[in-house]
Amino acid sequence: MSRPIAVITRNLINLVYPLHCAACKIALDPMNRSGICLSCEGKIKRNPKPYCLRCGRPVHSDGKLCEECERTSFAFDRAWSAYLYDGALKELIHLFKYRGKLALSGVLCGKICEFIDDTREIIDGVDLITFVPLHRGWLNEKEFNQSGILAAAISSKFRMPVSRLLEKRVNTRRQNELSRDERLTNLTGAFKPKDNALIGGANILLIDDVMTTGTTLNECAKTLKSAGAVEVRCLTLARGL
Ligand SMILES: [Zn+2]
Ligand SMILES: [Zn+2]
Repeated sequence: MSRPIAVITRNLINLVYPLHCAACKIALDPMNRSGICLSCEGKIKRNPKPYCLRCGRPVHSDGKLCEECERTSFAFDRAWSAYLYDGALKELIHLFKYRGKLALSGVLCGKICEFIDDTREIIDGVDLITFVPLHRGWLNEKEFNQSGILAAAISSKFRMPVSRLLEKRVNTRRQNELSRDERLTNLTGAFKPKDNALIGGANILLIDDVMTTGTTLNECAKTLKSAGAVEVRCLTLARGL
C-alpha cells in the first residue's frame, strides 16, 4: 500500500477503533505502530550501570559482584537485564505476556535489541540463542512464548541462529505467585535438554522476559551445562529488584 493510502486507511480505521497507548491509555497518533506513546516509551528506564559481573544487578562500583553473588553461585556465567521492571515497562510486559497483546512485541523486541547494540559483549562469541521454555499445557492455552518472540527478534536482527534447546517437563506454579523461598525450589528439575547435539560444546545465550531471583535462568543454565554447554550467558528484557 502506498504511504498516502496507508495514512488514509489507518485514519479511517482509527476513527472507528481509536488507538490508545497500552500503558497510559492516551489517544495515539493514527500512524503509531508501537502501541505506546512517546512519553511512556521515554519512561522505560535502563537498568543502571555498573552491573554485578555475574547476575547483572546494579552495584556501586565497576568490576564487582553484588552481595548475593559473593555468597552464592549461579550456574550461568553471566547475566544482563536491559531495563527496570517498573512503571510503563511492567504494564507492557504484563499486557504482552498474560493478556496476549502481541502488537506490543515490536516495541519490546526493539528495546532489547537496542540494549544489545550498546552492550555488544553480550553476543560476542555466542554460537546459539535459546529461550526459557513454557510447559506444553501452558503454551497451548496461551499459544505463544514471550521469551521465544524476544529470542527470534534478536536472532533476526543480529543474524545469529536460534533454537529451542530446552523443554519444561513439569507444569510448575508460576514463579511470580510464590514467596522468595518457594521460588528457589519450585523449579528444581523442571527443565530437560531437547537437543544435546546442538548444546554440546556451544556458547549459548539464554533469553527470558524478566529476571527476579534468577532461579529460572539458573535452572535452565544448569540443564544446558549438564548437557555439555561450554558457556551460558543470560539476557532478560527487565530486572525486578
Ligand atoms: Zn502512554
Ligand atoms: Zn550478582
